Amino acid sequence: MADLTGCIFCGNGPLTEEHVLPRRLNRIVPFAGDDHTEMMITIRPGQTRETAQEIRYRQPPYERTARCVCEPCNHDWMSDLDEAAEHVYSPLMRGEAIGRMGPGDQRVLAWWLAKVIAVMEYADRLQPGMSSSQHRWIMERKSPPPGTKVWIGDFDLPGDATYRYEHVTWCIAPGVPDLVTGGWARPRGSAGDSNSHFSMLTVGRLAAIILGTASALGLGPLADLPPSLAASLGQLWPLRTKYFAWPPGPPVPPSTSEFGEGLENFAFFPER
Ligand SMILES: [Zn+2]
Repeated sequence: MADLTGCIFCGNGPLTEEHVLPRRLNRIVPFAGDDHTEMMITIRPGQTRETAQEIRYRQPPYERTARCVCEPCNHDWMSDLDEAAEHVYSPLMRGEAIGRMGPGDQRVLAWWLAKVIAVMEYADRLQPGMSSSQHRWIMERKSPPPGTKVWIGDFDLPGDATYRYEHVTWCIAPGVPDLVTGGWARPRGSAGDSNSHFSMLTVGRLAAIILGTASALGLGPLADLPPSLAASLGQLWPLRTKYFAWPPGPPVPPSTSEFGEGLENFAFFPER
């Protein structure tokens, strides 16, 4: 990844250290100890999950910083967003029964998750899966960028864990017309920078899955959850319902804490 010279959102400098997760989360979900697992994987063109670079570490995410945004963004709209979204994410993380979420709350939660994931991608020197125009969209349009899907669910939190994060980036090559079907072929493993990402973030009882691509193919109807997860997770973005029922289903069982495993393949390259 090339060194950043400007803020990922507005393009201006100089860059400052930004906490990848707001420190206010420590008040809502205190870190439980050294049991936290965090994993970042970059699947480069030609690699598989098994051969990809993998980083695991044990540190509270809200103590980690990334140098990818400017001071005005950090202290202006990003800080405002952390505060504005707190009344939505806080009860979900604490496992409080809220019944349902209105469209305004759904939108601000989806926007906040997109902002968090955009910054978390820079916590390591890995290739980000979001494009610069998608970053700019988050700031200017106050929502997840095009090509993004977000699901959330109630995580059946094991007693010994409070935060989990898994991140995968990889390349979906530009689509080519499929002459046989008249649709688009979806080649994988071709040369190119990462343009797609899979992120799984759990904070307390809130589990979120974010899939995104800057590929011209978009996510399309293929990006859907396997049945084992679909029962527990509800689609938050694109907005699908006026009132989002919470929880959307039975809790996501802790045994599926590595539930991201293979999901990016399912979502983007289903068996055909
Ligand atoms: Zn900025």
